[in-house]
Amino acid sequence: MQIIRQIDPLRAAVAALRQSGSVALVPTMGAMHEGHLTLVREAAKRAAHVAVSIFVNPRQFGANEDLDAYPRQLERDCVLLDREGVALVWAPDAAAMYPAGYATNIAVSGISDGLCGAARPGHFDGVATVVCKLFNQVRPDTALFGEKDWQQLAVIRRMARDLDLILPAVNAIIGVPTVREADGLALSSRNAYLSADLRARAAALPRAMQRAAARLRDGVPVAVALAGLAQDLLEGGFDSIDYAELVDAETLVPLDALTGNSARLLVAARIGGTRLIDNIPA
Ligand code: AMP
Repeated sequence: MQIIRQIDPLRAAVAALRQSGSVALVPTMGAMHEGHLTLVREAAKRAAHVAVSIFVNPRQFGANEDLDAYPRQLERDCVLLDREGVALVWAPDAAAMYPAGYATNIAVSGISDGLCGAARPGHFDGVATVVCKLFNQVRPDTALFGEKDWQQLAVIRRMARDLDLILPAVNAIIGVPTVREADGLALSSRNAYLSADLRARAAALPRAMQRAAARLRDGVPVAVALAGLAQDLLEGGFDSIDYAELVDAETLVPLDALTGNSARLLVAARIGGTRLIDNIPA
C-alpha cells in the first residue's frame, strides 16, 4: 500500500493503477472505524483498486469547533487500510491541499443551508470544496460516502451533478448504509470524545429516533412526533438539540406530513459537549 503526501506522486500512482483497472475513492478524515472500513469493503466490490484519502479538512470546521482536538492516527489507520487491501492512501497536509494563495470556494446553495448547514455555517462549503478537489486529484471512477452524513451525501451528489464531475457514470457516487454499534449508536470518530457514562447514554439518540419514526408511521402528527423525540433525548441525557426534522430524503425540504416513501428523519444533538448526528428512513 502506498502512502502519498504530495499531488505529483499521487497523479503518477493513480495513473499507474488505472493501467490495470478502475479506481474507487473513499474520502475520510481518518481515525478509522468499522464505518470507514465498510466503505472500503464496498469500494473493493466496485473497482479494481481502492484509494482512501485521509485529510482533516480545516475548511469544514468552524472557528469554535474541534479541529485541533479531532483524532489523528495516521499510522494506525494505514495498518487497518493495508489489511483491507487498499492500494493507496492519499494523505496530504493542509499546505499540499491549500497551497499559498488558494482562493476558490464551492458553495452548493439550498441543500447546504438548513440542518447541519444552519448549525455550522460554512461547513458544507468546506466539504464541497475539498471533495471537488479530491475528485479532481484522484479522478476516481466511483466514490463512496456514508449515509450517516446524509446531508453531506446530498450536497456532494448535487455538486457532482451541477459541475459534471466524474462523468460519465451517472451513479458514480455511492451511499453506504450507516454502520452501528450493538445498541444502535452510529459509529463516529467523535464517539471517542464520550466518557463511558455518556457513551452509554448516547444510545438514547437512535432509540428516540426509532420511536419517533414508528409514531410517524402510526399517524402521529409530525410536530408531535418531533416534540416527543426532543423530549426523549433530553430525558435520555442529551443537553440540547440542534435540530430534529422530517425531510424529503433527496431535496432535504422539511415535510409536515409523512407522504410517499422518501421521508427521512435527521437529528443533531449534543451530549456532554459532543455533537452527534444521525438519520433514518421514516
Ligand atoms: P469522516 O472520516 O467522519 O469524514 O467519514 C468518512 C466517511 O465515512 C464519510 O463518507 C462518512 O459518512 C462515512 N461514515 C462515517 N461514519 C459512518 C458509519 N457509522 N457508517 C457508515 N459510514 C460512515
